[in-house]
Amino acid sequence: MHSLTLEDVHITLEGASLLSVDTSIAPGEVLTVMGPSGVGKSTLLAYIAGFLSPAFHARGRVCLGERELTRLPAEARRVGLLFQDPLLFPHLNVGGNLAFGMTAEGSRRKRRQRVEAALEEIGLNGFANRDPATLSGGQRSRVALMRVLLSKPCAMLLDEPFSKLDAALRDEMRQLVFQRVRQENLPTLMVTHDAADAEAAGGHVIELGS
Ligand code: ADP
Ligand code: MG
Repeated sequence: MHSLTLEDVHITLEGASLLSVDTSIAPGEVLTVMGPSGVGKSTLLAYIAGFLSPAFHARGRVCLGERELTRLPAEARRVGLLFQDPLLFPHLNVGGNLAFGMTAEGSRRKRRQRVEAALEEIGLNGFANRDPATLSGGQRSRVALMRVLLSKPCAMLLDEPFSKLDAALRDEMRQLVFQRVRQENLPTLMVTHDAADAEAAGGHVIELGS
């Protein structure tokens, strides 16, 4: 894995400066970017992932190791994203959701085994044929996490990923997410307005809008 580097990134909205970031995130490190609502946290993630709205103007570079992401279309960047709403495809069952972003390598049987192993890892043995609408919020969050990991990203972006969970689930999900991104050695950028998220991440913290 490589570091995720944000080189002199400046984003403006209608000519007014919105945010500036210059930092690097090592593999397995979780960097927290904090700031109140509207400060530009989601905008920064959209820029890194490659779907910044044309309302914004950005300069700077984002690199994964030597690979300059800002030259690549979104689908070629291999950046994993988790949002506060765990969005699963309603027309696919849980297994289909997990398999969605998986590379086509290996036999069909091998791929099914990877899906089953992922379900086992999050305590959802035998859930492959379930309709996502029948899952609890915590179960949906865990499936969304595994779906991103199975797509073999090279970096991870988290947009207030725990803010919609109730307190007990929130702690559990924090543990799981941070443990898994470290295991996979992914450079991870989390944006949040919750100081407890930053504390749980245990890494460096950058404040926007101060
Ligand atoms: P945060 O995630 O920190 O709450 P956002 O990145 O969503 O903030 O938004 C930053 C600013 O950009 C806000 O003022 C918001 O209203 C504005 N904004 C967000 N998306 C758009 C867009 N597509 N077009 C114009 N302005 C936008
Ligand atoms: Mg946001």
